[in-house]
Amino acid sequence: MSVFLSKEELELKEEIKQFAEEYVAPKVNEIEKSKSYDTIRNIIRELGKRGFLRVLHPKEYGGSEFGVIGDTIIAEELSAINFALDLSRLASVHLCGMPLNRFGTHEQKEKFLTPLIKGEKIGAIGITEPDVGSDAAGMKTRAHREGDYYIINGEKRFITNGSQADYICLFAITTPLPITRPKTGMTAFIVEKGMKGFTVEKDYELMGLNGTRISHLRFKNVAVPAENRIADENYGFKVLMDELNSERVAIAGQGVGVAKAAFETALRYSTERIQFDREIRGFEGVSFIIADMATRIEAARALTIQAARTLDRISNIRATKIASMAKYYACHSANWIAKEGIQLMGGIGYTKEHPMERFARDAPLLEIGGGTRNVMLYLIQREAYRERGF
Ligand SMILES: Cc1cc2nc3c(=O)[nH]c(=O)nc-3n(C[C@H](O)[C@H](O)[C@H](O)COP(=O)(O)OP(=O)(O)OC[C@H]3O[C@@H](n4cnc5c(N)ncnc54)[C@H](O)[C@@H]3O)c2cc1C
Repeated sequence: MSVFLSKEELELKEEIKQFAEEYVAPKVNEIEKSKSYDTIRNIIRELGKRGFLRVLHPKEYGGSEFGVIGDTIIAEELSAINFALDLSRLASVHLCGMPLNRFGTHEQKEKFLTPLIKGEKIGAIGITEPDVGSDAAGMKTRAHREGDYYIINGEKRFITNGSQADYICLFAITTPLPITRPKTGMTAFIVEKGMKGFTVEKDYELMGLNGTRISHLRFKNVAVPAENRIADENYGFKVLMDELNSERVAIAGQGVGVAKAAFETALRYSTERIQFDREIRGFEGVSFIIADMATRIEAARALTIQAARTLDRISNIRATKIASMAKYYACHSANWIAKEGIQLMGGIGYTKEHPMERFARDAPLLEIGGGTRNVMLYLIQREAYRERGF
């Protein structure tokens, strides 16, 4: 029963939950400990086979047109079991897939989008650079046209799936300052693995998200065919802004998932641990934290669903404020819940006997990737003033 989700959406939730618990959960140890990306790659392939990568995309290219709401349901249930896996899924079928979905040509969709939906290929998105993160419009990677090709030079860092991806949706400046502002001089391209001059410098060692790959990539005179350009030249900033709105709602879904997993772990432990001859849930200092956690999760999920509905039913452009609110609140809450979860469990929460320490290590990325907490707050206040004419 849900006052927010339809019967069809609840069925999807049940299906992905069952898949996550029966197929993914037994592999979490392998994802955490193995040095190889194979476990994640194989699960993404299986997600594709079972149709879970279809939700966002058009039927013509193998999608199911379930919408952003379907993507947040999948993000929540997979992230509750393993956030690293879901981050890799998201980077492939959503972050790389959405620019193709919304702006790609028929040929680009057939060639690049369908294999992502089937789970046969892995995608990535390349925005961030060593000198440019929050201020994405200031990126330094350059592309210029020579005949039927664009020549790309630059570097990208922190690219999820970067070293493993079959192709990457890359943003570069095609018309640099001072001729025009960066916002009107950016273009999106699909750069394919194996193109000459495209190299992986390294995968970063991270505090969490074991098993996934976050890479530093270099592009030296990479010749990309003009048919790999997504949308018109200099239209890339619009492509990027469009993608970021739906990405942020999906990350909010991931935040709800991580929060939910940490909450369930804490709640169960509070009924098992005995101190001073009673279950620790009997102390208000513990049970009131449980109450706070439960409330935050419901509020975060409600915001996330509202944001997904805005994208699905109203418009992308109108979703900026609610998408930022959902990401800000769900991701901040996930971090708070994981941190409080450790406190609630005492010493054992700080060990690897329980997954709480993994939730606390993985959760900070929620408030960084797809725009930091401050960037979300900036967007929320900007829209709040703008709506009132200030
Ligand atoms: C695990 C991981 C995966 C990632 N995956 C991808 C990916 O797949 N593709 C991709 O392109 N990028 C990816 N990123 C990069 C991520 O999107 C950036 O790290 C993020 O946008 C922040 O940029 P930055 O790290 O350069 O921080 P900065 O922009 O340097 O920010 C540093 C600090 O300054 C604050 N700040 C900056 N500007 C403002 C402002 N105007 N007002 C207030 N505060 C401000 C920020 O909030 C932050 O606290 C990933 C990062 C990580 C860690």
